[in-house]
Amino acid sequence: MRAVHEKVTTATVCALSAVRAVNFAESASMLQKVMTTILSVLRRLVATKAAQSPAPIAISIQPEPKPAPLSEAPSMASSTPKTPVQPPKAPEQPVKTAEAAKPLQEVAKPLQEFATFEGALEAKLKLLYPPFAKMVRLFIFEARKKGMAVSVFQGLRTFEEQHALYLKGRDPKTLKTVDKKLVVTNAPAGMSMHNYGLAVDVVFDGDEVKPGWQWSWSQKHPWKALAELGRSHGLEAAYFWKSFPEGPHFEKSYGMTYRELNALYREGGTQMIWSVLDMRQKATQSTKA
Ligand SMILES: [Zn+2]
Repeated sequence: MRAVHEKVTTATVCALSAVRAVNFAESASMLQKVMTTILSVLRRLVATKAAQSPAPIAISIQPEPKPAPLSEAPSMASSTPKTPVQPPKAPEQPVKTAEAAKPLQEVAKPLQEFATFEGALEAKLKLLYPPFAKMVRLFIFEARKKGMAVSVFQGLRTFEEQHALYLKGRDPKTLKTVDKKLVVTNAPAGMSMHNYGLAVDVVFDGDEVKPGWQWSWSQKHPWKALAELGRSHGLEAAYFWKSFPEGPHFEKSYGMTYRELNALYREGGTQMIWSVLDMRQKATQSTKA
């Protein structure tokens, strides 16, 4: 039994490493198919062996601490995992058992992906107003703890980038809407908190089994719960906006108007805005004290 189980584990590790090693999406998905097949065969083998081996003699009345791994192995193919393992669902993943979850390379995707993804997340947070970035980081981690596989898609957006977005679905000369379906924002350059490092767009991982982060804004994700969580972290969730609601968008204006932000930006860019915000924060803190 143990030998078979070890084979399953080894096969999982090999197959997963193979998938990771391959850069081309097509080959990777092919390898994944192969991996799934190998695993299902091995799993069946484990199940058969388990059926053949005599049932554990459970005469002892004293409840014993369960040596989980072996007895749990066949069950993984069937139903829900008992332990609330960190990454959400993915019932078909073979690496879900308590035993297989130990070494990092065997862990289901979100965990290892998060490890590499953390770098990208931090790089994006670094471009934002630091106190805001801190709030966003906490919010993202809290969401992940609640089983929502989210990260930041975009934070800071330059005026040029904002303008390019604004042109989508609009005539570049008159700026009038020509195709409503293509419009992604109602905010021209300078009229979005993104332009001042005070907003983020959040994204879900669309396929927690498939290697790599699959950007997804599908309606199937719990956007409302995410928005509520963001709000509880002091962020303004655009999900609740009456006009042009946006599930992924979270911001914090710190009571500043666009006119004020724009004036400061012209004077000294985001740094100027951020130092004014810092001063304001200090002032309110000292009046509170
Ligand atoms: Zn946004």
